[in-house]
Amino acid sequence: MPILSLHHVTATVDDAQDDLDFCIGGLGLRLVKKTVNFDNHHVYHFYYGDERGTPGTVWTTFPYKGRGVRVGTKGAGQVTVTAFSVPTGSLAEWRARLAAHGVAVTDIESHFGEPAISFADRSGLTFELIATDRDARAPWVADGFEADLAIRGLHSVGFVVRDPDRTVDLMSSLLGYDVVDQAPGRIRVAVQGGGPGKTIDILHDRRADLGVNGLGTVHHVAMAVATDGEQLQLRERLVEYGCNVTEVRDRCYFKSIYFREPGGVLFEIATMEPGFTVDEEIGSLGRALKLPPWEEPQRANIEKALPKVSY
Ligand code: ZN
Repeated sequence: MPILSLHHVTATVDDAQDDLDFCIGGLGLRLVKKTVNFDNHHVYHFYYGDERGTPGTVWTTFPYKGRGVRVGTKGAGQVTVTAFSVPTGSLAEWRARLAAHGVAVTDIESHFGEPAISFADRSGLTFELIATDRDARAPWVADGFEADLAIRGLHSVGFVVRDPDRTVDLMSSLLGYDVVDQAPGRIRVAVQGGGPGKTIDILHDRRADLGVNGLGTVHHVAMAVATDGEQLQLRERLVEYGCNVTEVRDRCYFKSIYFREPGGVLFEIATMEPGFTVDEEIGSLGRALKLPPWEEPQRANIEKALPKVSY
């Protein structure tokens, strides 16, 4: 059972400063790394999470404003909802805080007994806060956020597929997920006993239009494995299963492989190590622009072209 939990979720967003304001000021997440997109060094890559960016708490964004990327459309083959877990009883306070940030909040039907609210960021990404007493993870307590309010980490993601059968088959036979709950149009799968951070909702709809990548859409969801060796073993099994899997890519803070599950959603399998403290002290995570070694010679040009941000 190689998958331990979710690792991170990555989205394409519009404006860098709006994104920082929303994630830090609105959600109380910690910016744990400010780097660039390793495939396009004129675009930031922001990683947010708990104090050290523990896998399972991490939300990451590529702010593509002004780089010629069109607005995307949510649909089949995409993660359409990213949910964070918050303490039971905190949703009223969250509603008020988000409203004060100009964010419109919608009450939604609880999923399998856990109350939730829904809202969007300025790029149009859909988020939920799910209230649960099952999350023992220590939160990052940002200035102005109390421990009985703060986000604990990712609760789950929801992704849309037209036909869930092959997706469930791959996730259960290779990744270690079990079906733990079902509702109309929703199959909940989980690893390692389930709960917040270990849960994915497969939202199935035969008539769903295909999603289109772009601003305001999630690019991929990553799941965590313990070691490089387990990642390689899982890669072999995925190839045998018929998946088109990338080679291992060094993301500096973890190593990654990527493939599309049968419903079209881009999955990443990422290692737990080395983590975000590999190139910064824990107390100063996210302060400086960190570049991978192969981009360092270009630092002056890269810094000049990136939008100025403050936080
Ligand atoms: Zn990723």
